[in-house]
Amino acid sequence: MVNNTDPGTGVEQVAAAIRDSSSFLIAAHESPDGDAIASTFALTIALREMGKDVVAYNVDPIPQKLRFLPGADTLVNHVAEQTRYDVGIVLDAGELRRAKIDVIGMCGISINIDHHPYSEDFGDIYCVDTGASATAVMIYRILKHLDHPVSVAVAENIYTAILSDTGSFRYSSANSEAFCVAGEMVGCGVDPWKVAGGLYESQEEERLRLLAKSLATLQISACGRVAAIYATEQMFAEVGAGPELADSFVNYPRSIHGVEVAVFLREIGPDSYKLSMRSKGSVDVGALARELGGGGHRNAAGGEVSGSVEQVVADVFKRLHPLLP
Ligand code: 5GP
Ligand code: MN
Repeated sequence: MVNNTDPGTGVEQVAAAIRDSSSFLIAAHESPDGDAIASTFALTIALREMGKDVVAYNVDPIPQKLRFLPGADTLVNHVAEQTRYDVGIVLDAGELRRAKIDVIGMCGISINIDHHPYSEDFGDIYCVDTGASATAVMIYRILKHLDHPVSVAVAENIYTAILSDTGSFRYSSANSEAFCVAGEMVGCGVDPWKVAGGLYESQEEERLRLLAKSLATLQISACGRVAAIYATEQMFAEVGAGPELADSFVNYPRSIHGVEVAVFLREIGPDSYKLSMRSKGSVDVGALARELGGGGHRNAAGGEVSGSVEQVVADVFKRLHPLLP
């Protein structure tokens, strides 16, 4: 049994808002990852089990590899703007704007539940703990606080979110709470092989074809410690892949021996790129991302950058160089 319901993180306030309200709008960040999606479903399912009315929203579609999750059939990507909800909850977003919906205008009480460092302080309740390995762990704490029993459907989502955000328990964010909660979820009936099968053993052919093109762009800095790959809109078109299929591509350049920081650029418009950075620990890529107007953690961060791909790679390499140990 895990007992970590620190009231200091806003858990008590969120629990009270849930207890006292009946209609909810739940949203997470655009281009959702495993934690964003599975946290959305875990909270949606749990609130419905409590008899609440819940709309689960994301501006983007569910990535293919997460469609096996319970709750995947209920996500909507359009909500009428004039609809009003008692409570709006933004999950895992870092910044409100990344939820792409006017949660504050549409909801009586708005809540930020997150684990990102420097998560934006918006809305009425700030439930953020950077010590949580995943936003889903915050949801677990809230459900514990409410004495709500964790169903298999909720457990599968919480387990998936933790697995996804800790890189399958490889990252330093995989703290003892992550293992304890994941273990408890298995105790609740989660089948780890079913989740791994969905997350890692069900890739689309197009993703591998896109990866092949993207890996061919590999550039390594003269010192051998920074590596970058990119994917252009043309590459996506050539293989018939959507943008979500490039998820986690940045892990490939990071896996090179000697590389401390990896960069992945995904073209999102003319001279405009979505930047992803991953560090092995010695460089705080979150700090650099914030400098560039984005955000994230020490070891995983991103943002949007403009310029030609050559200019952007050169600029990011130049900014990273003085940060290397
Ligand atoms: P990814 O590279 O997977 O898109 O993002 C890595 C990390 O950086 C995630 O924790 C994500 O929330 C954060 N991140 C990525 N893009 C942005 C952005 O534009 N703004 C902020 N604040 N955080 C971002
Ligand atoms: Mn997360």
